[in-house]
Amino acid sequence: MSHDDYPTEEPAVVTCGLPYANGELHIGHLRTYVGGDVYSRALETLGQQTAFVSGSDMHGTPVAVNAEKEGVSPREFALRHHDKYEATFPKFDIEFDNYGHTDDETNTELTQEIVRKLDEEGYIYEKEIKVAWDPIEDDPLPDRYVEGTCPYCGAHARGDECDEGCGRHLEPGEIEDPTSIRTGNPAEYRERTHKFFRVSELQEYLQGFIDRLEGTSNAKNQPREWIEGELQDWCISRDMDWGIDYPGEDDGAEDLVLYVWVDAPIEYIASTKQYTERVGADTYDWEEPWKDAGEIVHIIGRDIIQHHTVFWPAMLHVAEYNEPRAVMASGFVNLNGKGFSTSRNRAVWADDYLDEGFAPDLLRYYLATNGGFQQDVDFSWDRFQERVNGELVGTVGNFVYRSLLFAARNYDGAPDAETSDEVRERIEDAIDEFTAAVNDYSIKDLGDAATALAAFGNEYIQRNEPWKLTDEDPERAEQVIYDCVQLSKALAVLLEPILPGKAEILWAQLGEDGSVHETVVADALAAPRGDFGEPDELFAKIEDERVEELNETLDERIEAATSDEDEADDEHVSDHKPISDDRISFDEFQDLDLRVGRIESAEPIEGADALLRLEVDIGPETRQIVAGLKQLHDVEDLEGKKIVVVANLEKAELFGVESNGMVLAAGEEADLLTTHADAEPGTKIK
Ligand SMILES: [Zn+2]
Repeated sequence: MSHDDYPTEEPAVVTCGLPYANGELHIGHLRTYVGGDVYSRALETLGQQTAFVSGSDMHGTPVAVNAEKEGVSPREFALRHHDKYEATFPKFDIEFDNYGHTDDETNTELTQEIVRKLDEEGYIYEKEIKVAWDPIEDDPLPDRYVEGTCPYCGAHARGDECDEGCGRHLEPGEIEDPTSIRTGNPAEYRERTHKFFRVSELQEYLQGFIDRLEGTSNAKNQPREWIEGELQDWCISRDMDWGIDYPGEDDGAEDLVLYVWVDAPIEYIASTKQYTERVGADTYDWEEPWKDAGEIVHIIGRDIIQHHTVFWPAMLHVAEYNEPRAVMASGFVNLNGKGFSTSRNRAVWADDYLDEGFAPDLLRYYLATNGGFQQDVDFSWDRFQERVNGELVGTVGNFVYRSLLFAARNYDGAPDAETSDEVRERIEDAIDEFTAAVNDYSIKDLGDAATALAAFGNEYIQRNEPWKLTDEDPERAEQVIYDCVQLSKALAVLLEPILPGKAEILWAQLGEDGSVHETVVADALAAPRGDFGEPDELFAKIEDERVEELNETLDERIEAATSDEDEADDEHVSDHKPISDDRISFDEFQDLDLRVGRIESAEPIEGADALLRLEVDIGPETRQIVAGLKQLHDVEDLEGKKIVVVANLEKAELFGVESNGMVLAAGEEADLLTTHADAEPGTKIK
């Protein structure tokens, strides 16, 4: 099945991935939301009926963990952030038709209804699984309450996600060496009964779905590996208080809540429903896109592709909702070539950007067009200046200002003429490019279609030199300026999705009625209205001194935060576990046979991500020892290293390989213990 091109007859709903209500927004976060806003505006410009919705993700352990740190209830904590987000998005002209949150009644009811349906259809079963538990506090440790080692790649990972390594979603019980983030206690695994969704039975459906799916190529290709591999059932319940209750009391599930990734995407539907409740089903009927026929487009960060292309369509399918037509997954935003770090204050905060007095449109333009949507983009004030001064001031602003100023001074507005064939055809091409960009899910191409039209305008006015023609050939001068006014009008229409604020100003400068937000692509070719006065410049150049100041402010802040962190690290040293009062006798110590060893060879073990098979010379013999060093050391560098070995430890088997002894290492980084003079292999440590 292939989809009809946009605009279609059916209503569309464009959604943005829900922000976790647990932190401040920085400009990197805004990329997905700017992308969603641009895309939904562009669909409307094509004449497609569109609702643009999102909401705050209130549940889950990220919120619960941070609320606990602050000593407030998760609801109070999350609502505070929700209110902040709801107020911040419009400041960047990110205008949701509805912005709800997952803890409200609409989402709660809809979520329980959908889970009941999954159950009725036979897609839910119970299973005893091991879940992480704090044995000292006697508390369950779901998801982000534990950290440990990813069983797939060996990286340090959160309980529900390998965020620093392979990026996989982790099921309860999967993480290795779990430790409570609340107490630092090593967690143990306990048997608990949980609810599972039979995703594994939906493999065939999901294969068809992924073939039909449109959007960015990362969202279409990455899930194939998961769908075509061994598809796992999905644990959808958690031992927690904060969340939506698992529906039904008679099945012993009363103290379970739903996993946050069940109710979070359902908010897309709930938020659309709330929009309908506000404007009436005659204006926009939420059931059309979600249940009848319509276009569902999800715009997300690339770290949540799996949730949106495997679990989510599986749920929708069984619950008899429509599947998404497209998923657009954005790359990340870096700052001066490195990642944003909220804990290190390595960020340009949304509020800081606005406090600098820059128009939201400048940032929107930067984020939307600085690279393909799925590519990572780098933000720096230098590059920001370059793009604003080059493309917005130099190309777009320059063209419309000189055109409208000339028109106002000489003709009090648009002269009496008709658009030339050359200019009409060029605008038609720009409309085609714009339409193709929407159908290709390419936000960058949308912007390029408009800026290329402005570049053509500059070339056109330069080539025709109307300032020379006013005396020589007044009729020809009127023609050229009329063309330029038409091009300016077309630019207002085509730039509106990316630069809604500036496009509105330009629309008013052109003396046009109403709002450019209400226009469609065909209006780019409608006759300019006529009279207008001298315009102001749309964009102001950013001076070098300003950029220097901005860079200094940012550097100072990062430095201050980094030195705070060093102090925090110093404190952390004294934070190590207290020394045990449990003394051992010298004889007991003597029982340990510790020897100097020399690593003769090191090689990976097939299937084990962290483990290496070492041959270690310990004097009297050479031992085979398995050690978890692979992620932390270069394998080639290990050969010849002097180490300390526990020689009389009982043998163990790891990944089918016998380990005859243990290598000593310090801390998380597996800093290898060594000797500092010429101790021979086999020398006893005492
Ligand atoms: Zn991993």
